[in-house]
Amino acid sequence: MNTNSGPRHVAIIGAGIVGLSVAWFLQEAGVDVTVLERSEVGVGSSWGNAGWISPGLSIPLPEPSVLRYGLKSILDGDSPLYVPPTFDPGIWRFLVNFARHCNMRDWKSAMGALMALNRLAIPAYEQLAQAEEGLEVHTAPIVAAFRNSSEAAALLHEFEMIRSSGQALETSVLEGPQVREQVPQLSTDVGFAIRIDGQRYIDPSTFTAALAAAVTKRGGRILTGQAVTSIGRAMGRVAVSTAVGDVLRCDAAVVATGAWMNTLARGLGVKRQVQAGRGYSFVVPTSRPVPSPIYFPSVRVACTPSGSDALRVAGTMEFRSPDAAFDAKRVMAIVRSATPLLDEVDWSARRLDWVGPRPVTGDGLPLIGESAIPGVYIAGGHGMWGVTLGPATGQELARQIVEGKTPPELLPFLPTRR
Ligand SMILES: Cc1cc2nc3c(=O)[nH]c(=O)nc-3n(C[C@H](O)[C@H](O)[C@H](O)COP(=O)(O)OP(=O)(O)OC[C@H]3O[C@@H](n4cnc5c(N)ncnc54)[C@H](O)[C@@H]3O)c2cc1C
Repeated sequence: MNTNSGPRHVAIIGAGIVGLSVAWFLQEAGVDVTVLERSEVGVGSSWGNAGWISPGLSIPLPEPSVLRYGLKSILDGDSPLYVPPTFDPGIWRFLVNFARHCNMRDWKSAMGALMALNRLAIPAYEQLAQAEEGLEVHTAPIVAAFRNSSEAAALLHEFEMIRSSGQALETSVLEGPQVREQVPQLSTDVGFAIRIDGQRYIDPSTFTAALAAAVTKRGGRILTGQAVTSIGRAMGRVAVSTAVGDVLRCDAAVVATGAWMNTLARGLGVKRQVQAGRGYSFVVPTSRPVPSPIYFPSVRVACTPSGSDALRVAGTMEFRSPDAAFDAKRVMAIVRSATPLLDEVDWSARRLDWVGPRPVTGDGLPLIGESAIPGVYIAGGHGMWGVTLGPATGQELARQIVEGKTPPELLPFLPTRR
């Protein structure tokens, strides 16, 4: 029971990992929640992603090497980073803004901000997993795999940057036969690897569905097929209007609409644009269990065990509308790049082809906190790391909503920043 003077009923818009985490942590503080989702639970970016809870690797996306890499590859249809030829001024405005932040000064300051949230990531998952049956979190190292040691130079440099910012990262080098002792499915093309300890992973769609079930079991309402069209204040309360003309009146609302954020957030004083950085994934059977997640940095492909006999393979950053059509060529580009690096995988039995939009911001920081409308909050824009940071975001934003004070960890993520 919520005994303080904070809000008693909060509407959350968007049933992805971020919105559902906000809902669960609000309930933890005794708040009544209603989640409005335009489609089905977890159908956005939270469905087929790689599922890594990897605070050690959660760093701002804009950095100088991304810019160099981007310029070389941006119009190459087979490249992991892709911007289709487009006249959409929104995408070009985003890219210019993103490029402006690709410098070391901005990276260091954004890294300092992210680190404080990263530290809360695993404890927030532990709290969820301890409280609820069915929220399964796996512990395993991530293995970054390379053809040879020189291919690893860029990632090792990134690790130095991460450590010099003060973020802990426990790594060890594997060479020759050690590589396949760690992950038997790595092909003999792989001669060098780095093992990153202390991380976790989930099956994202199962986890999101189980989190939604937990919110419902605790008395929350999840209304699917309810697209929210506007949010404002009326008669001292927050009014959330839906496409079918319903109006939900509540004490506060949280917009957690992922890559679709701009539509509602623009009217709430949010100036920062959220751009969809679409990624693709699919699942392939393996002849025996894969012991841990695998990352192939040279082709930007992430693989995650899916049950005991399959691997989810994910990749690509395609800056495009979140609702653009699925592009089968992107999946085939991932298959081509990963095939020589993995054994014991039946590529011909590929299933669950998927595309989802990462909610990317130009400065590489999420938007978390109160909008320009009192009582209306924003939670999103986590880009590559929304799974890692979803529960920590939910925990801290719930604290802010209930206590009426911004936790220090959230200060850099003010949604109304310029
Ligand atoms: C290929 C790929 C791999 C990834 N791997 C990882 C990883 O390993 N680790 C990691 O930390 N992150 C990863 N990510 C990123 C992560 O998936 C996202 O950051 C995260 O899922 C974003 O969650 P969200 O809840 O903000 O958005 P979403 O999951 O997209 O949820 C937003 C929801 O809002 C709903 N919605 C939108 N508009 C409205 C409206 N008007 N009214 C009502 N509902 C609305 C949508 O239908 C959707 O369900 C990956 C992403 C991709 C694409």
